[in-house]
Amino acid sequence: MNNTKLDLSEIFGCNVFNDAAMREYLPKDTYKALKRTIDKGAELDPAVAEVVANAMKNWAINKGATHFTHWFQPMTGFTAEKHDAFISPTEDGKVIMEFSGKELIKGEPDASSFPSGGIRATFEARGYTAWDCTSPAFVKEDTLCIPTAFCSYTGEALDKKTPLLRSMEALSKQAMRVLKLFGNSTSEKVITTVGAEQEYFLIDKEFFKKRKDLVYTGRTLFGALPPKGQELEDHYFGSIKERIAAYMKEVEVELWKLGVTAKTRHNEVAPAQHEMAPIFASTNIATDHNQLVMDTMKKVANRHGLVCLLHEKPFAGVNGSGKHNNWSMGTDDGMNLLEPGTTPHENAQFLVFLAAIIKAVDVHADLLRVSAANTGNDHRLGANEAPPAIISVFLGDQLTDILEQIVKGPATNSKQGGMMKIGVTTLPALPKDATDRNRTSPFAFTGNKFEFRMVPSSASISGPNIVLNSIVADVLSEIADSLEKAEDFNASVQLLLQDIVKAHGRIVFNGNGYSQEWVEEATKRGLPNISSTVEAIPALVTEKAVALFSKHGVFNEIELHSRYEIVLEEYSKQINIEAKTMIEMAKRQILPSGIKYATELAASINTIKAAADADTSVQAELLTELSTALTSFKAKLAALETVNNEAAEVEGALTQARFYRESVFPAMGELREVGDYIETIVDEALWPMPTYGDLLFQV
Ligand code: ADP
Ligand code: MG
Repeated sequence: MNNTKLDLSEIFGCNVFNDAAMREYLPKDTYKALKRTIDKGAELDPAVAEVVANAMKNWAINKGATHFTHWFQPMTGFTAEKHDAFISPTEDGKVIMEFSGKELIKGEPDASSFPSGGIRATFEARGYTAWDCTSPAFVKEDTLCIPTAFCSYTGEALDKKTPLLRSMEALSKQAMRVLKLFGNSTSEKVITTVGAEQEYFLIDKEFFKKRKDLVYTGRTLFGALPPKGQELEDHYFGSIKERIAAYMKEVEVELWKLGVTAKTRHNEVAPAQHEMAPIFASTNIATDHNQLVMDTMKKVANRHGLVCLLHEKPFAGVNGSGKHNNWSMGTDDGMNLLEPGTTPHENAQFLVFLAAIIKAVDVHADLLRVSAANTGNDHRLGANEAPPAIISVFLGDQLTDILEQIVKGPATNSKQGGMMKIGVTTLPALPKDATDRNRTSPFAFTGNKFEFRMVPSSASISGPNIVLNSIVADVLSEIADSLEKAEDFNASVQLLLQDIVKAHGRIVFNGNGYSQEWVEEATKRGLPNISSTVEAIPALVTEKAVALFSKHGVFNEIELHSRYEIVLEEYSKQINIEAKTMIEMAKRQILPSGIKYATELAASINTIKAAADADTSVQAELLTELSTALTSFKAKLAALETVNNEAAEVEGALTQARFYRESVFPAMGELREVGDYIETIVDEALWPMPTYGDLLFQV
């Protein structure tokens, strides 16, 4: 790769209508009014919106835009955009470029085909999009993209942004109540922050196109393991190949232009697997940015003759991909609430927020689990490459020890050496050393933030963050309720911490999360071990979930039920597509190539016998082996077809999804096993698709 000088300060954010652009393009009073709306949520005057729209249009046109779109995040998990040109006809048969305040603030895409889980009856299928001015507009290709929320006419959220914004607000409100009790008079709001590390695979486009499974489902449904896998761990942090480095650089430049702080890049454990991490941002922006990251990764790959696979498990037998969701809370005036303090007062505040998280994760482990569930992730969680399906919290020995001291030390007893007394004792400096981190924990404290490691690589990070924000908000509200009544504040804090640690300390686990002992230990502790997406989904509609989300205004019951329906249906549809793809590959590719090879072997036996009556026992043996395998393969194929047809007839979203999980999915596994064996005995020249070796090692 040739190096030309890049001025990053010039490139960064050049396609974003950011603060600098606003200052340049907006009159001073308009700028101030807009800032008030962005920072404080003040209502935006329509007259101001008109001026902003016009300025935004002028800015975008200068960046080469001809169109605008309300960029939104429907329940598909992808982003959606419908472009409108800026043109408006004039009387003399020409056009002028126009963009009104109304068009900026509200859109009405007739987006009736997006999943709504029954919220939108077809006769009033319209939804509308509303500008989210807390996430800046940007120009992508030739289009001004305006980040928007997507709702039904009756106000229900139809997207992944609306509830995220609501959950951030809920957390801010409850966290502020607690901060006020600690005497904070300077902060105005609490913002949750997220840094999402993104894993992905890159494979050659020519190979990709020849694999129906990758094309239709994003993962390989057949494929024997090559002689070499990831066992040498020579790929992890290895030197980056030129072709890949060129790709990564282009992704980064594109992202920098969009204001995404792409920071770290490296090779991951599996061959052809890589990772990118940005610098953290507010949850809302981090979520928008992660969508841009995934979108950009795919688009740029195409330009390089590559395909970027974001699926959680593109290849059996080598590690799959995830997304580490680093999460914290901070005040608008710059204090990280998960940063251990140096004074007794700061310690107490830190410990209260920490305890709130511990309790939230214990009480709502089922919600965190479902927030990380998708069809692809079922192949990873609990498979010794990703965190187990059991939710637990890693705190490290020192912090765990402190919590134990809190439990032991009664609020009034200051004489017992080593006991933690709130308002008196300071915390020892906690190590922030990376080597100390436990990679097997699904939810790990890493010095000043938590890292939620179960998140699927292909999914929007909205869901996990909605849950994190909401469950922590809920515990903080309980804490505020109780401390607001306290007479002796420090003593009450001490008691509260003791109660929480006693009741919820079971969720803390610092050992090896991949071990069988942990599975057994977790069962003893009564922690849920929810093995699949289908079993995780009902957590969305329990009484507990409805009470939690409606109390904090994040989801109402209708919205929860709609989401429940959507994810169940999505699961069933995805397994059905996978099953149908396997059936097609089996019938039209694997069986024919097996039969061709069998015919060649038979022909060879006949020809040789006729010519010389020589020994043909090798061919005969191979032919027998192959024929036996083909017979078994055909039987497994028939079995899969039967259950997959049956699945289509099953009534009820949950019952149907369970049927796909319990009957169709195992039948797919059985077919694959024989198919992969056939691959290892059929002549390479006759094999109808690129192999794992091609896909993983020929990039
Ligand atoms: P590792 O791979 O060791 O987990 P990385 O440096 O790759 O570490 O990723 C850490 C991520 O955590 C980065 O995206 C970083 O910006 C993010 N992060 C750091 N501080 C915070 C914070 N206060 N809130 C949220 N995310 C944070
Ligand atoms: Mg990480």
